[in-house]
Amino acid sequence: MEIIVLIVVGLSVGSFLNVVIYRLPRNENLAFPRSHCPACNAQLRWFHNLPVISFLALRGRCAHCRAPISWRYPLVEIATAGILWMCWSHFGSRPLYALLSAIFLLILLVLSFIDLEYMILPDELTLGGAAVFLAYSFFHPGFSSPWTGVATAFGAAAVFAGLFFFYIKVRGMEGLGFGDVKLMLMLGAFLGLEGLVVALLLASLFGLLVGGFMILFRGKNLKLALPFGPFLALGAFFSLFWGVRILGIIQSWVALG
Ligand SMILES: [Zn+2]
Repeated sequence: MEIIVLIVVGLSVGSFLNVVIYRLPRNENLAFPRSHCPACNAQLRWFHNLPVISFLALRGRCAHCRAPISWRYPLVEIATAGILWMCWSHFGSRPLYALLSAIFLLILLVLSFIDLEYMILPDELTLGGAAVFLAYSFFHPGFSSPWTGVATAFGAAAVFAGLFFFYIKVRGMEGLGFGDVKLMLMLGAFLGLEGLVVALLLASLFGLLVGGFMILFRGKNLKLALPFGPFLALGAFFSLFWGVRILGIIQSWVALG
């Protein structure tokens, strides 16, 4: 029963997140007007707007003009349902923490798709998320002291800001976006120092792997910057659920070395 509720809620929330991903970078109102096809502008009927089901029934094409609908729509809806299910099954005994974990990961999901397309991380999401999670970590810390999350957040943001200005000054280019600096506030506040270190290690590893593959197989040169946001989001995802285990593995390697 629980799982059915989570799937239905997840797909519906995912459907709204698709609207956010499309409209937020375009500075459009999130609530009005109703959804329309980006190709022919036809307004969607309710039965053309059902998560996943409509995409399958229409075989990924607009009912009016047959323009292809992005695979992003069903993917975000399924990912949202998956995130809700994972947060509930991992942290269900602590409902507030489960809910905040879900909000944390859903913000990162939206940020990832916006960053992939536009190479930006909107302040509404990074700073909005930072405010929520700084408050949470201060008043309800899973950390040793109320300041641990706050110190981690601002420390990490300061390090990233340093890197940001270092790149501009020394290399004359943007090595990472300033959006990544603001994202550090949110990640540090919720993950804490150890969780953030694991997330950063994984993000760098994923980034190197994907970047390496792109250079090998697609001949892209290193100057074509990949957005770092999606890698940070993926690192944070693994860190949130398996951070303690991953940290244990790293520590055993260090001890062996
Ligand atoms: Zn259309």
